[in-house]
Amino acid sequence: MYQHILLAVDFFEHDQIVIDRAKALAASYQAKLSLIHVVDNTPMVDAGYGDMPYPIDLGNELMAIAQAKLHKLAAALAVAEADIWLESGSAHQEIVRVAQEQQADLLVVGSHGRHGLALLLGSTANSILHHARCDVLAVRLPDQPAA
Ligand code: AMP
Repeated sequence: MYQHILLAVDFFEHDQIVIDRAKALAASYQAKLSLIHVVDNTPMVDAGYGDMPYPIDLGNELMAIAQAKLHKLAAALAVAEADIWLESGSAHQEIVRVAQEQQADLLVVGSHGRHGLALLLGSTANSILHHARCDVLAVRLPDQPAA
């Protein structure tokens, strides 16, 4: 039924549960599996101190770390290089955009991650659910942080 599953990973606690679910679904539907991770571009500036006093490109550092993690995961899942998406910006917007552009028919996310349970569904999962044009599976994650 599903032909192209896009798995959104935030590399946060319990993400292995979401990864395992997407992998199992892709196998059972014989669907293509793609991966996306978005590096938030929140400026790291302390309002009390003004701008950073020294030039440091944290954005590039974060992208490099994220890229290494994403490639490691892709290798473990046998996902092709062409099916890995590393983006920067607003997580939910980028995930919905890539899902649409790549014609994914199922988006797999965790019920909550870094943004916690504030909105029952986490904020990213909630926004994706409202804006995605394809089906969205929010994999229910434990409420408690891992011990
Ligand atoms: P949240 O709503 O932010 O607590 O996160 C819920 C789910 O959205 C996570 O389990 C991931 O599947 C996905 N997600 C959140 N942030 C990102 C991100 N920066 N990159 C990729 N997926 C994300």
